[in-house]
Amino acid sequence: MIVSKQKEFRDILKTVKEKNIFIIGCGKCAKKQHLGGEPEVLEMKKKLKVSGKKVIGWTVLSSACNIGSWDEVLSQNPAVGKAEALLIMSCGGGVSIISSVAPQSAYPALDTLSLGGVCRDSVVMEQCNMCGECDIQFFAGICPIGQCPKGMRNGPCGGAMEGKCEVDERNCVWEEIHKRLESLGRLQLIEEIREPKDHSKRRRRD
Ligand code: SF4
Ligand code: SF4
Repeated sequence: MIVSKQKEFRDILKTVKEKNIFIIGCGKCAKKQHLGGEPEVLEMKKKLKVSGKKVIGWTVLSSACNIGSWDEVLSQNPAVGKAEALLIMSCGGGVSIISSVAPQSAYPALDTLSLGGVCRDSVVMEQCNMCGECDIQFFAGICPIGQCPKGMRNGPCGGAMEGKCEVDERNCVWEEIHKRLESLGRLQLIEEIREPKDHSKRRRRD
């Protein structure tokens, strides 16, 4: 899941200068986080109206980052053709996909934070940095690139105090990796030196 957060409404208003707006929510990650489903889209519609904007329509796409074609969106939502601007309540992936096919400007209503997941109904952040060369098995399934603020791959930085990271309030990732490797009976893995990643595998485009 892509983890996002709602932008401040005043920041959205600062950038969206157009009057006639069409709002697009996302039925996947954003909906799951209560950021881009129908209730949030309707709340956004209300706020825009109070601020003097005209919301000429809205929809929640099944997935904003996975659309067949703009014509398909248009045929299901004819009002979108009259919009001067689109306000997209999805991650940046959805905004960029829609921007690549829509004739209007598309504005993000959310800030995209990280690649995470959902566990026991709680959203967990920063699980993966999408490095293109996954070797999380050596770290007992806890990715130090995704979860350590310094991306330490060969042991802790030495700054942890009583198990707490020196950068922020999280537990030191390396304490967690050590504990879990020990419980799996695979502590010997911690002795092995990990080579630098092959950054060519993290392709931006094919
Ligand atoms: S090793 Fe790379 S692909 Fe695997 S979880 Fe970490 S960042 Fe993601
Ligand atoms: S204290 Fe641990 S989690 Fe924090 S930066 Fe250092 S190694 Fe990473």
